[in-house]
Amino acid sequence: MTIDPQVIHSEPHVALGSLLQRDVSVLIDRWQRRALEEQPQARRVHQDILMDRLTNFLWELGRSLAESQEPETSTHCTTALEHGEQRWQAGWSLPEVVRDYQILRLVLLEYLDEILDRPLTSREAMAIHLALDEAIAASVGMYVSQREEALLRMERERAEQEKKREETVVVALREADYRKNEFLAVLGHELRNSLAPILNAVEVLRLAGSNEGAIQQVRDLIERQARQMARLVDDLLDLTRITLGKVELRKECLDLATAIAQAVEASGPLIQVLNHRLSIHLPTEPLWLEADRTRLVQMITNLLNNAAKYTDPGGQIWLTGERIGQEAVIRVRDTGIGIPPEMLSRIFDIFTQVDRTSGRTQGGVGIGLTLVKKLVEMHGGSVEAHSGGPGQGSEFVVRLPALPVHSSSPPSGTAVLPKAASTRHVLIIEDNPDGRETMQALLKLWGHRVEAAEDGQGGVAMALASNPQVALIDLGLPRWDGYEVAKKLRASLGQNIYLVAMTGFGQAEDRRRTLEAGFDAHLVKPVDMDELARLLTDLPQATPEQET
Ligand code: ADP
Repeated sequence: MTIDPQVIHSEPHVALGSLLQRDVSVLIDRWQRRALEEQPQARRVHQDILMDRLTNFLWELGRSLAESQEPETSTHCTTALEHGEQRWQAGWSLPEVVRDYQILRLVLLEYLDEILDRPLTSREAMAIHLALDEAIAASVGMYVSQREEALLRMERERAEQEKKREETVVVALREADYRKNEFLAVLGHELRNSLAPILNAVEVLRLAGSNEGAIQQVRDLIERQARQMARLVDDLLDLTRITLGKVELRKECLDLATAIAQAVEASGPLIQVLNHRLSIHLPTEPLWLEADRTRLVQMITNLLNNAAKYTDPGGQIWLTGERIGQEAVIRVRDTGIGIPPEMLSRIFDIFTQVDRTSGRTQGGVGIGLTLVKKLVEMHGGSVEAHSGGPGQGSEFVVRLPALPVHSSSPPSGTAVLPKAASTRHVLIIEDNPDGRETMQALLKLWGHRVEAAEDGQGGVAMALASNPQVALIDLGLPRWDGYEVAKKLRASLGQNIYLVAMTGFGQAEDRRRTLEAGFDAHLVKPVDMDELARLLTDLPQATPEQET
């Protein structure tokens, strides 16, 4: 027998259809219970959002059977379409959808069998199967098209995101390339700025003959320029090594004040040349950190140099170190040119300078802050910049993990600078106020009795009056230089005073000269605080007249 769906459709089954329409709620109840047992994951749909559609669907199914509708116009198929859409949205899987209709088929057949009290005829069964198959086809078709649309949408969104990501990468690469080119131009410019005077100096040397004054002047110039270039190259190499992960921190337990003192000494000449005032606030108690001394000094020096460079002469700089909770907080604030808000986070990026044309950069190429940030992060800390905007000054805040508070001694088990084992009476003769004040503060923190003079004459007078054990003497003093001061002190006090020269020059020849002039020791600036502490500890005991 040939089964033609058209023919089956054209045969109305009024009794069957009416029965379904009459007993919609009973059928839904049975369908729901059975579906709940078989597909517990999908039950939420039966229980809430699909209930109205199910009622509708079963009623329309009854109508299709009763009215011998054409397949295209079968209203139960329209409702099945809605089903498919809802089930996709509710997160059903495709097998769950199909299984749901299979459950309905079983429920229907069982129910009709039960209610008619006779077996279904084969035409009736065929009509039911056909109607349900059409519903499944409509539902599944809609479900699949929804899924395909969603997949397409996802694909489109992914492609858009990918495109955006690529665009961002391209922009970042372009930006990096631009900054690299700018950097090369600035680097070339800075190197030429140093090379040109050196070449001129060579010419002067050739012509100077035996003019000692001119030779000395030119030698100083060459040294200054060469140091500038060396600093630039060192920074560049440092940054490359840090970026490649090749820098290892040599951590030790140290007092923040000692690092601040070294940094102030290193930046002192620049601050002084630009006639800035520097106010330093150190904690009254030692603030212990586990840090690489050289790197910590480098960070603070970089920030101090920037404060000096980016502030008009005669400005004010504040340098503060304090403990806040578990952190050592270092602040460098200035009254300088300030930073525009949009640049505050970017200035830490490599090769970034706010204004390359101002001529303020003084040998910088935009890597100092990148170095600071990387070094701070290597220490487990953070750095941020604040500024009210152009002309409003700037503040850089570095936060580093501090060691727990110890009342008077450094944390045990660490190789640290001991606080002075015995108190010394020390005289500092130094014309640089920042260098003098920080060293004075530091030596006091270590427990020494300290006096300070800002020139040679004052220093000698003070020494004769108070008979100190040690004199730390800057060689480059105005009027009476350090050599002369040493000669006078030796002549008046003999071997009762220990004379220490402080100078930027550390060659063997320089050391020989200071020893010949009567100094007992020679410290190269910036003074290594460990060395100074050792020197003071190793001194012989004071004579009774020198006891404090
Ligand atoms: P450099 O000083 O060599 O240019 P840095 O990385 O140290 O490089 O600083 C980057 C830029 O940040 C500087 O060029 C300058 O524009 C800005 N900057 C840094 N410190 C300050 C400051 N204290 N005040 C104003 N601008 C600053």
